[in-house]
Amino acid sequence: MTITEQVKHAIEQPFGKVLADKMALTSYTNGSWSEPIVQPLQPLSLSPGAHVFHYASACFEGLKAHRFDDGSIHIFRLDAHLARLQQSAQLLCLPLPDESVCRAMIVDLVRQCREWVPQHPGTLYIRPTLIGTEPSIGSAATPSKDALFYVLVSPVGSYFKGGIKPLRLSIETTHWRTSPEFGLAKAGGNYAAALKMIQDAKNNLHVDQVLFAPGNDVQETGAANFMLLNDRQLITKPLDTTFLHGVTRDSILTIARELGYEVREEAIPLDRLLAWVPNGEAVLTGTAAVLASVGTLIHKGEEIKVGNGEMGPNAARLRSALVNIQNGTAPDHNGWLTAI
Ligand SMILES: *Cc1c(COP(=O)(O)O)cnc(C)c1O
Repeated sequence: MTITEQVKHAIEQPFGKVLADKMALTSYTNGSWSEPIVQPLQPLSLSPGAHVFHYASACFEGLKAHRFDDGSIHIFRLDAHLARLQQSAQLLCLPLPDESVCRAMIVDLVRQCREWVPQHPGTLYIRPTLIGTEPSIGSAATPSKDALFYVLVSPVGSYFKGGIKPLRLSIETTHWRTSPEFGLAKAGGNYAAALKMIQDAKNNLHVDQVLFAPGNDVQETGAANFMLLNDRQLITKPLDTTFLHGVTRDSILTIARELGYEVREEAIPLDRLLAWVPNGEAVLTGTAAVLASVGTLIHKGEEIKVGNGEMGPNAARLRSALVNIQNGTAPDHNGWLTAI
């Protein structure tokens, strides 16, 4: 198959299933990073005793490269994602190459994979990954001395192939997604910790995701941030260590301010959420789906419709404002795109 054919096939597959045929990589041993390389996509060879396999020393990023109609390719908010990677690495006590090196590896890989970037609304999803590789099964309480930083890219179609279907969420008021100090790390262990709760809710309540609201503090779902909207206001939880600081969240807040919404970064107690939804909108934000509407909430066995259960006008407006910047049909006032 030609690359064009492989991309066409890839965007019909579930998100992230197909990887492009190249990867970027550098390894950390004896206190220094190797010269980064781009190589054919291939399996890694690691000791079965590697730190990551036992003590979950792993974090990642998820960002996208977009193709404009003129064929040029642009990475969205590369700096913000690099800053967050740095934060995750620090929380896991893992070494990370200098920001300029990480940036160059990502840009270089996307450049070498430019044929893999689909037409809009498809995008090239970029997955920088950092793992602890020290072969030592006795290092439960010590950081990995060795590490591997690599970058994968995956052509992805629109998240909403079957049309934009509002999501069904259950509200979890007892359990945390992760530990309160670690929610801001994009670390593999956080997803492992939340998986069974999400799986049980999917099986028992037929929901798409769980909205975590431990102690009635509405936080986020398993992989996206949460916001309330109406014609005037946008409300979302202020940044703290309990949840992931989404780059999409930040982008939507910026765009909402520019469009004249009153943006309130305030705690959302469950009562406030329940009072809001009959006449308001609720959305999730994240790189994969950009912005998705919540149509139904399940709370204490009861089904609660958000508005009329469909995507609301404010969600649609904010979503297209962001998507238009990403695909080059609206100006990039904030300098969010890196041309490659
Ligand atoms: C990645 C992620 C988000 C969204 O972050 P973006 O930078 O907008 O993609 C939100 N919550 C969790 C738990 C995540 O893993």
